[in-house]
Amino acid sequence: METQQVCILGATGSIGRSTLDVIAMHPDRFEVYALTAFNNIDTLVRLAWESRAQVVVVPDQVALRRFTTLWPAGRSLPEIRLGQQGLCETAADPAVDTVMAAIVGAACLPSVISAARAGKRILLANKEALVAAGAVFLDAVRSGGAQLLPIDSEHNAIYQCMPAELLGQVAEAPHPAVKKLILTASGGPFRAMPLQQLSSVTPEQACMHPNWVMGKKISVDSATMANKGLEVIEAHWLFSMPVEQISVVIHPQSVVHSMVEYVDGSVLSQMAAPDMRVPIAYGLGFPERIHSGSAHLDLAAQNALEFETPCFERFPALRLAFEALGTSQEACVALNAANEVAVEQFLHGKLNYIDIAQVVEKTIDRVVGESFEPLSTLDAVLALDEHARKLAQQFCLHP
Ligand code: NDP
Ligand code: MG
Repeated sequence: METQQVCILGATGSIGRSTLDVIAMHPDRFEVYALTAFNNIDTLVRLAWESRAQVVVVPDQVALRRFTTLWPAGRSLPEIRLGQQGLCETAADPAVDTVMAAIVGAACLPSVISAARAGKRILLANKEALVAAGAVFLDAVRSGGAQLLPIDSEHNAIYQCMPAELLGQVAEAPHPAVKKLILTASGGPFRAMPLQQLSSVTPEQACMHPNWVMGKKISVDSATMANKGLEVIEAHWLFSMPVEQISVVIHPQSVVHSMVEYVDGSVLSQMAAPDMRVPIAYGLGFPERIHSGSAHLDLAAQNALEFETPCFERFPALRLAFEALGTSQEACVALNAANEVAVEQFLHGKLNYIDIAQVVEKTIDRVVGESFEPLSTLDAVLALDEHARKLAQQFCLHP
């Protein structure tokens, strides 16, 4: 068996570190070729040392000097590449077999498209790239001959429950046997909080997810259910399903990770402990199954598995995502960009929790009333993304 050379985009994050955990369990199968970071250069030094990465990517010269200064004596430095260009070059590096796309936000777009064009096996944890640029990204996957494996737990679950002939390829059309995709959502930390208290919740409360430990942005997105909204759009692109055939159900225990309903009435689900190492191991080992390090489910010890319909009044961000997907690609770009800006402002204490969805809605409304060049290239998507971010910044000042 040849060892796979792996590049982890966003190695210092929650998904990046979980990926390194799984890789470390299988030294015969995987080698770390490249790791990337943005702010956490100290962590990158430690991870690159432990994993013996050959290449690292940091954002700029300041980070490069810090990396060089912190690198312990006794072993030569890895090759250090810089910025967005370094990320794109590394994602497409001929030495790389597999790319874990785990940079948060639309910042992942250029490098993940670069990996697609170079025909890599892409383990897609990042969801914002598909939301903002689904068509452009999937075109690159197809023309580059890349293999796309969803890592987001819901999409990984759906992938595992899909008809077997779809495995290993990107769906071109809805599968005629599939009636509906059912995404599960935990409901986050505010599922049962009285609505009037939502206006005073803090970033710390919003980041206290009941079942998962994740990065801050996705934790806030889980509280607002913007995360599930992004996942609805992600599912639309990954499985070529129209918005009418995608639904969301709240399942507070996070044991059933999502479901596929077939035309005959069968519903298939994938279940596992809420541990991202399970979908990560699935992607790394595909088509084989490998150990993930996760605890195994004890269904008898599990009390009840509950399911309930999400309330749009409590979770307006979810409604906005369904509406944006039904409206246009421009609306989806605006939704994603405005949400990133608003969450950042909320995390910095500059925006009220309930105003996050307000800012997103106002930005979408403004963008769909304007006209833009068709979103058929990455540059066009990035230009609209930037425009929507500026609008959202303004709306954050007067939500
Ligand atoms: P984290 O915030 O924990 O990590 C984000 C990573 O991206 C870090 O390595 C960070 O570097 C890097 N990064 C941040 N901004 C930039 C930038 N502008 N350019 C380059 N690199 C950057 O996020 P998560 O690991 O939680 O999530 C990563 C992605 O995976 C997200 O898109 C999320 O939606 C998705 N996902 C995450 C899940 C989870 O359980 N965490 C589950 C399903 C999907 P540094 O730390 O050095 O600043
Ligand atoms: Mg998810």
